[in-house]
Amino acid sequence: MAELARVMRFSTAGELTASIAHEINQPLGAILTNAETAKAILKSPSPDIAELNEIVDDILKDDQRANEVIRRMRSLLKKAPFELKNFDLNDLVRETLGVLSSLAVGRKVELSSLITQNALPILGDRIQLQQVILNLVVNGIDAMRDTPSENRIISIRTSRVENVAQLSVSDRGPGIPEDKLKEVFEPFFTSKAEGMGMGLSIARTIIEAHHGLISAKNRDHGGASFRIRLPLVS
Ligand code: ADP
Repeated sequence: MAELARVMRFSTAGELTASIAHEINQPLGAILTNAETAKAILKSPSPDIAELNEIVDDILKDDQRANEVIRRMRSLLKKAPFELKNFDLNDLVRETLGVLSSLAVGRKVELSSLITQNALPILGDRIQLQQVILNLVVNGIDAMRDTPSENRIISIRTSRVENVAQLSVSDRGPGIPEDKLKEVFEPFFTSKAEGMGMGLSIARTIIEAHHGLISAKNRDHGGASFRIRLPLVS
């Protein structure tokens, strides 16, 4: 976990995901093996209930272990000394758009940004907040995989609302089922074959550690929209 702590400080979202994957791969692998064994046993004419019971107990134990890794990771993230700096959220958004430009070209997605003229001074950890923005944009790009390329647009907007800095990332993908708008922030919630379901959970932890809020909604004409609100420093 010391390694994870180090990674937390410097990682891009990708590196972070890799290190969590490494930590929970073992329990997940064991769960898979046990589930497959249980399925095989169930196919026999008289399944051995005692054995099935043991297998289910093992699955529960491994699930617990995977959860424990996530719990530790989250508390570590909360305790990790923040590198708090004053900066303008607009500058971070511009910088992050630069980081994303080649990915966007490769995936034939247009990144359209509307950045407010108002300064958005916030106090926060630049790297962590950049991870959040990257995650939201990459999720939007993933969501538009089957969207015709002329509609593949991600809109990134910033605004100042009273003493709050707002950032929204909106796409034109299929959106999120209404009953899942909260669940998407839970660890392990994923609808992707290769997904980890950790990105939004980490994003929420980071934003809440900055005394902010993150939420998801569906747009009126299709697509999902994520909004972050962070307190402005005066
Ligand atoms: P992952 O990307 O590994 O699945 P995330 O926590 O980043 O993990 O996202 C969790 C889930 O939330 C996704 O699998 C998807 O079902 C849903 N989701 C996230 N962003 C979007 C989006 N822009 N449009 C539609 N669904 C989304």
